[in-house]
Amino acid sequence: MQGIYLHIPFCRKACVYCDFHFSTQLKTKGVLVDAICKEIELQKDFLKEKHIDSIYFGGGTPSVLDKTELVRIFKALAKDFTWNKNAEITLECNPDDLTKEKLLELKELGVNRLSIGLQSFDDAELKWMNRAHTAAESETCVKLAQETGFNNISIDLIYGSKFQTVESWKKSLEKALSLGVQHISSYNLTVEEKTELGHAVSKGKEIAVDDEKSSQQFIMLMETLQKNGFEHYEISNFAKKGFEAVHNTNYWKGAKYLGIGPSAHSFNGVSRQWNISNNAIYVNAINSGTEFFETETLSKLNRYNEYVLTRLRTKWGCDLNYIRSEFGNKFAEHFTETSEAFMPTDLQRTDSNYSLTKMGKLMADKIAMELFM
Ligand code: SF4
Repeated sequence: MQGIYLHIPFCRKACVYCDFHFSTQLKTKGVLVDAICKEIELQKDFLKEKHIDSIYFGGGTPSVLDKTELVRIFKALAKDFTWNKNAEITLECNPDDLTKEKLLELKELGVNRLSIGLQSFDDAELKWMNRAHTAAESETCVKLAQETGFNNISIDLIYGSKFQTVESWKKSLEKALSLGVQHISSYNLTVEEKTELGHAVSKGKEIAVDDEKSSQQFIMLMETLQKNGFEHYEISNFAKKGFEAVHNTNYWKGAKYLGIGPSAHSFNGVSRQWNISNNAIYVNAINSGTEFFETETLSKLNRYNEYVLTRLRTKWGCDLNYIRSEFGNKFAEHFTETSEAFMPTDLQRTDSNYSLTKMGKLMADKIAMELFM
C-alpha cells in the first residue's frame, strides 16, 4: 500500500491557532500548481511501485484550487502513476468553498472523499478562530455534499477552546452526529508558539487551554461517538464501519508515501524527506533545478521510536513480536520493561499486542515518549 500527498499551501484567511504551512497570497496559486506538476515528474521514482492506493490533497485549503488547476495536477499524476477507479481520493476543503458547482466539479474529477474543516458550530468561536465560514455554512455544505452524491465525508472539530463548556461541547457533538457523516476527526486546541494565538497567550491577552476541561471533553467525545456507532481507530479519528481513512491509516501503519508541494514529507521505508516550507523558495528551486528538500536516513532507533509513537495512537497498538523481529531483543526488552509502569490502567495487553486503555488515551504521547529508546 502506498499513497501520494499533495500539500496545497493556500488559505483564504489565517486561523489564529494554525501552524501549518500556508500563504494567503492566492494570486500565486498558478505558479505553485506549475511547480507541483513539475515536482511530480521529478519525484516519480521516489516510490519504486507506480501504482498508488490513495491520493490526498491537504493543506492549507485545497478547495481554493479551481477546476483547471486540479485538472493539471491530476494529469501530471496520471503521467507517472496509476490508481484504481475506487482508490481513495480525499480533498480537504472549507465550507465557504463548497458550492453545488464546486462539488460537482470535484465529483467529476474523481474526488470520492471530502474532509471538511467545520471546526465549530458556534459563530462567536468561528469568528474568534478567524475562520472564513459561519456555522450555518458548515451545516449547509455537508447537506449539499451529500445531495451531490458524496457518501464518504469526514468533518474536523476542535475542542478545548475558551468557548467550549462541557455542555456546549455536548451540543456540538449532537449537531455533528445529526449531519450523518461517516468520519469525524477531532483535535484538542493546542497553543503553538508561532501562531497569533500563541503570541496572545504569551502576552497574557488570551488564556491558555485548560487541560482538565479538555480531558473531560475528550472523554465525552470518545463516549458519545462510540455510543453512536463510530470506532475510535486513532487518537483523533473516529469512523463508521468501513470508512477508516485509507491514506492516513497507511501512514500510521508505516506504509510508503510521496509528499508533493512545499513542506510536504515523504517516506520510502528507508529514508524520510521534507520539502522547503516556503512557497517562493520552493517554486524557484523547482524551476532552477536546485535542492528543494532535505533527507534523513532513518536509523533503527528512529524507526523504533516512530513505530511506537504512531502505532500506540491507533487501535492496532504496538506488537511485541513485530518489535522483536524488526528491531531485535534489546528493543523488545526495553518495550516490555517500560510498558509495565502503565499496566493495566493506561495500557492493556492482548497476546503480543499492547494498546491504550481509555485512560491511556488521555496521555498517549507522554506514554509513547516513556517507551522510546
Ligand atoms: S484553513 Fe486550515 S490550514 Fe488554513 S489557516 Fe485555517 S486551520 Fe490552517
